[in-house]
Amino acid sequence: MKELIAAQRTYFLAGHTRPISDRKKILRKLHNLLMENESMLTEAIYKDFRKPSMLTVENELSLPYGEINNAIRNLKRWSRSRWRLTDLANFPARTRTNPVPYGVTLVIGPWNYPFMLSLVPMISALAAGNTVILKPSEVTSHSSAVLAELINSNFPKELIHVVEGGVGETTELLKLKFDKIFFTGSTQVGRIVMRAAAEQLPPVTLELGGKNPVIVMPDCNLKRTAQRIAWGKLHNNGQACVSPDHLYVHESIKEQLIQEIGKQIDRITGSDPKGSPLLPRMVNERNFDRVMGLIDPEKVVVGGSSDRSECYIEPTIMDRVSPDDPVMQEEIFGPLLPVLSYSNLEELVESLKLKEAPLVLYIFTRKRRLAERIMKEVASGGGMINEVVMHFINMNAPFGGVGASGMGNYHGRAGFIDFSHHKTIMIKPMWFELFLKYPPHRKIYLRIYRSVLGKSIKNFFR
Ligand code: NAD
Repeated sequence: MKELIAAQRTYFLAGHTRPISDRKKILRKLHNLLMENESMLTEAIYKDFRKPSMLTVENELSLPYGEINNAIRNLKRWSRSRWRLTDLANFPARTRTNPVPYGVTLVIGPWNYPFMLSLVPMISALAAGNTVILKPSEVTSHSSAVLAELINSNFPKELIHVVEGGVGETTELLKLKFDKIFFTGSTQVGRIVMRAAAEQLPPVTLELGGKNPVIVMPDCNLKRTAQRIAWGKLHNNGQACVSPDHLYVHESIKEQLIQEIGKQIDRITGSDPKGSPLLPRMVNERNFDRVMGLIDPEKVVVGGSSDRSECYIEPTIMDRVSPDDPVMQEEIFGPLLPVLSYSNLEELVESLKLKEAPLVLYIFTRKRRLAERIMKEVASGGGMINEVVMHFINMNAPFGGVGASGMGNYHGRAGFIDFSHHKTIMIKPMWFELFLKYPPHRKIYLRIYRSVLGKSIKNFFR
């Protein structure tokens, strides 16, 4: 690994990743490689957790394709240096900021979208002119192997290389010197990554998890709300960082909403949810056992069946859940939806303010102003009003967590910015010198500093 990093650093320092035209060529090549090998990719992920091929193309590959096309279209504009206003004390200097690549970057991916969540940050890293060592999750071993096979045999290892492995390999990698680390995974491992990074001080982006609450107010469009929540919960079978984790429903509509979500689940899965071609399985027995351990059979009102030999859990709703129940102590990451009720919205909002910031806050209501006020008051990585999950695919806006759900943003231009250092450069001619810099420091100088020099030339003449 040391040799690999040294080879990438030499390659980077030689300037091979700098030309924009070469970056575009690499991205185009990656696009074609993925397209030509779609069937190999979809087969691998099906072996990992029976993710249907149509869904793989829809939510594992279409986003990387979109990211690549977006980057190719905009790279020149994103890479431009930007002129900044210069303060009067620096007259007649000029200032600009250049985005420059960090160098050798490490991208660590999770298992739940093994292609998309490895490829999208990698695309941003390459677009910004870095080299990449990609460490996909060992949990989805077939997907990891196919990524390694495709990428390592088609790109020089000095530019991109996939290193397969689990905790041991990642621990070793984290001891080495990277110029930037991008991690997607659990909050717990995020802490480990951050601790390891403290030794070398690379900038770190953490895309972590959390419990995403959904507030459902009594004035919502009940049927559409139920439809969207059911779809969002079953997306990847609940194994998504943006999955609606649990509901806070106004007590006056709770029974009705649960019934309606149950109906919508049936519509999505059909009469035989176990045989549904749309639902991937729990990824392994460990996760199966973990989610089953969160189910309180006495509180199940929809679903509840399971089959450990197939890592199958039926989409399940639990009612009368209290904040102290085990299901409310950790991110669920499975097809289980606990429902809590509320009667006083302000009390609910106050209690949410005291919790760890989730990755997303969802609110269903017709009162947009009220929802926007709550969005401002309750900390979360992002939010959606009257929808779930879908904001993730909007590559025109930054995506990321805050606090326990992460730090830093990516997607589209935000990803390019995240993988670039923004270097400010000031250029000053020699013909003018500011006498105030030099002793003796008279009292009048202080007055001039206070009244004039904190301003830019533009503001001074306003
Ligand atoms: P994870 O933290 O277990 O693993 C993520 C990566 O870290 C894997 O590559 C794994 O090999 C590595 N890893 C695991 N243990 C490690 C250790 N002790 N030391 C060093 N490396 C280690 O996460 P996961 O189970 O793969 O993914 C699920 C989690 O990721 C959920 O919490 C989910 O919310 C979160 N997630 C967040 C986002 C986001 O965009 N914010 C997206 C997807 C998933």
